[in-house]
Amino acid sequence: MRSPHGSFGLCYRNKVLYENRMTHVLIISDIEGSSACWDRAGAAFLTRQWRKACIGMSLDINAVVTALFAAGAASVRVKDFHRTGYNLITSVIHPGAQIDQGYHAGPVPGVGDPGECRTLMMIGMHAASGTAGFIPHTLTSRISSLVINGCPTAEVSLFAASLAPFGLRPAFFSGCPRACRQALSAMPEIHTHAIDKSGGLEDFDAVAYRHRLAEAAVASLSNDAAEPFDWQGPFDVRVTFRNGPPAARQIGDRWGYQVDRDMVLFRADHFREMYMTLIRICYLTPLREKILPFSLGAFNAMGRLGLAYAKMMESSRIRSLRHADDELTY
Ligand SMILES: [Zn+2]
Repeated sequence: MRSPHGSFGLCYRNKVLYENRMTHVLIISDIEGSSACWDRAGAAFLTRQWRKACIGMSLDINAVVTALFAAGAASVRVKDFHRTGYNLITSVIHPGAQIDQGYHAGPVPGVGDPGECRTLMMIGMHAASGTAGFIPHTLTSRISSLVINGCPTAEVSLFAASLAPFGLRPAFFSGCPRACRQALSAMPEIHTHAIDKSGGLEDFDAVAYRHRLAEAAVASLSNDAAEPFDWQGPFDVRVTFRNGPPAARQIGDRWGYQVDRDMVLFRADHFREMYMTLIRICYLTPLREKILPFSLGAFNAMGRLGLAYAKMMESSRIRSLRHADDELTY
């Protein structure tokens, strides 16, 4: 078939395909900025809205993965990174993708070993705690703001920096317009694609959105300007708790951190130390940390069960969807 751009277009396309053949992509997949999460219930666990959102999130990822493979990506690994880490319905996602569910203790907290992935895409993300945007939060909804070195901080920076030692370049980000702006202000070279939910669910064309999202993700394969987000310390961190001084005091007492009214304050010289401290504050107790392999295993088992329930409840809808088809609707 002749390229609409003539032989030069064909040549260019072959060159792009050749270059992409060496591209190993890691996708971090969240639900709030996906096409079927329209309220807090859609991001909660075991709700009817969440089950629906799981299907939409999976279809978004399927569209992106299918397009990345068509563009020549060598491999695509998808990290399910919302709440329990079990939201994606693998049967509706391109079978070539490696879907990684649940959380790993390390080497990258939560993500595990990124292997040979060098291109990082973050899809379906949300804005930072304490900012406007669609279901804004950072790490946990118990935090009303996370300020690092004077700046409200979104997960995009934490995730990208945690993967920087492994050489991953944050090439692409999708989420609400506010989340995209925050990603761009932290890393100006990242490509973004916003999902506009201001018109409401009735006027939203999910299939058209997935096409545009997939196209934007493919275009970011040639984002040569993105560099690993090597975030250097020292870090001065202020974590504000939504439930006020008692919640901050509980965390401060538990771990021995400084507390000021509804805030826990700490300093860290290096990113990893800062990130691990935040994970402690948000997700752990000293006992849970001591028995981490067991508590992670129990948490992952709960997530697996929850997703099995969602799949059972939505089985007829899921069966009606076909593999690896970016026209999928529900
Ligand atoms: Zn989430």
